[in-house]
Amino acid sequence: MTDHPRTIGILSFQGDFAAHAQALERAGATPRCIRRIAELASLDGLILPGGESTTMLRFLRAEPWFDALREFAASGRPLFGTCAGAILLARVVTRPPQASLGLLDMTVQRNGYGRQVDSFIARIPVAALGPKPLESVFIRAPIIETVGPGVETLAEYGGHPVWVRQGRVFAAAFHPEMTDDTRVHEFVFDLKPSGIKSNGAPA
Ligand code: GLN
Repeated sequence: MTDHPRTIGILSFQGDFAAHAQALERAGATPRCIRRIAELASLDGLILPGGESTTMLRFLRAEPWFDALREFAASGRPLFGTCAGAILLARVVTRPPQASLGLLDMTVQRNGYGRQVDSFIARIPVAALGPKPLESVFIRAPIIETVGPGVETLAEYGGHPVWVRQGRVFAAAFHPEMTDDTRVHEFVFDLKPSGIKSNGAPA
């Protein structure tokens, strides 16, 4: 928790970056849609949004984004991938295999919950967020199949992790930006103490 609004970037080549910007505003942060590596320097945290991971990869490979994002994570600032963004963060991607940043020690299966018509909303209990269950929107979501020993599972559904963290790198299979509930953004970016635990950031 800090006494100034945090500036949180959203990688905005493609996908639902605008919904994340609105969610961040609701959560009390200052969102910034970014498309250039140089913009990373001014951020307190970064979101890789949902969308189409293959399309995002094309943008990421056009410039040295892989190195820049690895440096961003190494700087200790929170990095949060949702859905396609979670796929980009994974160590291993299957069905089909594709390149990824390897910043979170997990194996993900793309579209593991089915196709667009199989999208669904689930109410999931999440201890870290308090007693109220979290309404979670899954849209052609990846299944997190395995996680390494350094990964903490914050929420699971149907026997699979759906929200995980490794240090300050976070991934969600669902879309927390698509509901009015801002607790996930608050937790990841340490935005305000709305009765939830902090993410362990230094004071
Ligand atoms: N199925 C998409 C992909 O593989 C992710 C879907 C989403 O982000 N809602 O990239």
